[in-house]
Amino acid sequence: MQKHDPIPEFIEVTPTARISEAVHGWKAKCLQRLVRLDLPVPKSVALPSFTVRSIAAGHTADAAGILACFGPSPLVSVRGSPANLDWGGPASVLNIGLNADRHARLAETHGETAADALYVRFVQAYAIHVARLDPDLFEDIKPGPGALAEVLRLYEVETDEAFPQDPARQLSEVLRSMSRAWEGTSARLLRAAKGAPADAALGLVVQDMAQGFGQGLSGSGVIQFVDSVTGQARVTGRYLNQSQGRAALSARESLYLTKDARGPSLEDVAPDIFADLQRFGAICRVGLREEMQIEFTIEDGHLFVLDAVKVARSARAGLRIAVALAEDGVIPKEEAVLRVEPRALSELLHHQVDPRGPRDVIARGIAASPGAATGRLVFTSDAAQASAARGEPCILVRKETAPEDIRGMHSSVAVLTERGGMTSHAAVIARGLGVPCVVGASDMRLDLRERRLTAPDGRVFGEGDVLTIDGSKGEAMAGAAEMLPPALDDSFRQLLNWADTFRDIGVRANADTPADAATARKFEAEGIGLCRTEHMFFDEDRLVAMREMIFADTPGDRAAALARLLPMQRADFVQLFEIMEGKPVCIRLFDPPLHEFLPSGREGLRDLAEALDRPLSEVTRRAEALSEVNPMLGMRGVRLGIVLPEIYDMQAQAIFEATLESARRGAPVVPEVMIPLVSARREVELVKARIDAVAAMVRSRAKAEFDYKLGVMVETPRAALRAGEIAQHAAFLSFGTNDLTQMTYGLSRDDAGRFMNTYVQQGVFPEDPFHILDVDGVGELLLMGAERGRETRPDLTLSICGEHGGNPESIAFCRKAGFDYVSCSPYRVPMARLAAAHLAL
Ligand code: PEP
Ligand code: MG
Repeated sequence: MQKHDPIPEFIEVTPTARISEAVHGWKAKCLQRLVRLDLPVPKSVALPSFTVRSIAAGHTADAAGILACFGPSPLVSVRGSPANLDWGGPASVLNIGLNADRHARLAETHGETAADALYVRFVQAYAIHVARLDPDLFEDIKPGPGALAEVLRLYEVETDEAFPQDPARQLSEVLRSMSRAWEGTSARLLRAAKGAPADAALGLVVQDMAQGFGQGLSGSGVIQFVDSVTGQARVTGRYLNQSQGRAALSARESLYLTKDARGPSLEDVAPDIFADLQRFGAICRVGLREEMQIEFTIEDGHLFVLDAVKVARSARAGLRIAVALAEDGVIPKEEAVLRVEPRALSELLHHQVDPRGPRDVIARGIAASPGAATGRLVFTSDAAQASAARGEPCILVRKETAPEDIRGMHSSVAVLTERGGMTSHAAVIARGLGVPCVVGASDMRLDLRERRLTAPDGRVFGEGDVLTIDGSKGEAMAGAAEMLPPALDDSFRQLLNWADTFRDIGVRANADTPADAATARKFEAEGIGLCRTEHMFFDEDRLVAMREMIFADTPGDRAAALARLLPMQRADFVQLFEIMEGKPVCIRLFDPPLHEFLPSGREGLRDLAEALDRPLSEVTRRAEALSEVNPMLGMRGVRLGIVLPEIYDMQAQAIFEATLESARRGAPVVPEVMIPLVSARREVELVKARIDAVAAMVRSRAKAEFDYKLGVMVETPRAALRAGEIAQHAAFLSFGTNDLTQMTYGLSRDDAGRFMNTYVQQGVFPEDPFHILDVDGVGELLLMGAERGRETRPDLTLSICGEHGGNPESIAFCRKAGFDYVSCSPYRVPMARLAAAHLAL
């Protein structure tokens, strides 16, 4: 056939026929591939999507012409062939062509019972799909003698005509009803939800029936060669004697495929056929470059392959299948990398609620940190710690969390909060810890005094009740759900190692503690892009020294308190450097407002007064004096560094002494010191002068040399705008897009959860900007800052360390803007590595 010939209204599926996925749909193309692989596929005819469209619009199909392809009085099936299998499609209709005459002949060859059963099934399917009769009508009809007469009678009563006997009319009506079903509203909505375009096309396939009924071995079944949940090589599926279609999957009496202790199998009954199926599976795997599920029929001992679809698979199975195909040389490594969705990885790093089990959802919120865990309910961080000490897994429920809850969060297997959004404290910390977390579950009511959680449906849960948190779905469930374990196996590591060879932007981790750093290393981050040092001050012994420092009356007293913190900080950094084994570590100097380190309630203040040996009134007054109306825009970050410079002096000294210590231990590092919340060049000048002086002091005391880099965190719009002059004093700029988003929008990152849903639903924001980088606004500041900074200093290192750093879309944006690396929570590092590889391929 010439290239410019028009596409025919229908075409027989032969090895050379002009059939394409775009025109005839996925299934038609797949059948052609199976034919080319020489598999025993019954004769098939494909209708292109334009034929299907015109049938839906009222054109009558050339049914007689189609049937003529199949020889005298054929029986055929019709299957949907959408361009993408995930988009669904109308249900298949089997045995078209059956009428009184054909039924009589079938009864002779296959026996009365089989002939009756087939005819009954066809009339029913036709009645439901074509004549649009209510399926309930047929509910009470019992199989056996009389059923056929009853079905035919019902059809006639309901439609006022006898069941059509002309095969061409039957086929024409089936084609019409399937074409129209595709255009129906519910089908459109369903496929749109799966990402299908508005003009998604459907082809149809008419196929000769392989009977599955007969004297010799006859039946049908499905087979696949990998496990859909784990991706491990394993034959699964079912076979049912004397059956058609996919009946084997639901029938109790169907057989296993391989030899099985639980019952008889196809391998026992028909070893040759089973061996053929295995061979076909291997041929499909190589020829179609995919793990396929094969639908087969045996007619009088002859095996037919009716159809093959991609094996349905969980994320973990998808990864294992892709790696195995590449390892076997079936697909290139690049393709294996591209076949795995980066977002699917987060599911593999954690326990997951088994999708096959029941879910008793009691509250919904924002899926803030992926994974799932089961534990007993606790309402305070103290209770969480006590529970952990008893070795009892617990779930911490709070209205929202504060820095003093960190230890409680550490002690919990999952966290649930009533308030908050994607970058609220609970969300950020939970992601860092790898603890499943749901925030902003505002439908539940929390009574902390009574220690009670009331679900929207009125059920009440108290301390000790067992819940499951699904941080991947944003749901809290009653009781212990069934779980799947994490899948950090060889396949996972192999895929990411391949990804690393393709990507061209760095991936570091945000890691505050040795445990975080160890996780970062486990996920093969290239360094630490953000170490939030304040998280090192919440341990019991440090908190006391910290509070003494805050309450110091004179610089001398402050220095004394800081001197107690110095060795602890130094030890933190030594440990961090050791774990990172020479990889870069970027340490951010102290950032939060000081009042976060003070207790809030009266009881806490009394304890503090006791610990500091000061009158309660004075402690209360000082605490009140520290409180700010708008602390996130107040005395924090570099502002603290300038007003109380001793804190940064101590931190710099700890970093530099740790650097020397690491060099002595044989793991030399070049630490990167980062100044937070900068908005003016002068801030950087002042801090830099002091840090350089501390470095000189450490060098001269130790009589040893070391290098370090000083950089600036761009978190205020002004820092982005003035990046040109700021870069004069900075070796690197790291964009803290959490604060930068907060300040660009004037949107509180801790409170936005309350109205974000409404905003997104009404299209005010396309997405939660704390979750997906706002490329139009915040993104423009990133571009400006990057460009202005690099103008001053072409070798300026650029990175992003806000929560967006782990997001595939944001990584694409940063890569395009010429950034050197992204930094994200350790648990998002694998996703970032894979997403970066996708961008480069
Ligand atoms: C940021 O603001 O983007 C950031 C990384 O810092 P933090 O989340 O600690 O404010
Ligand atoms: Mg910040």
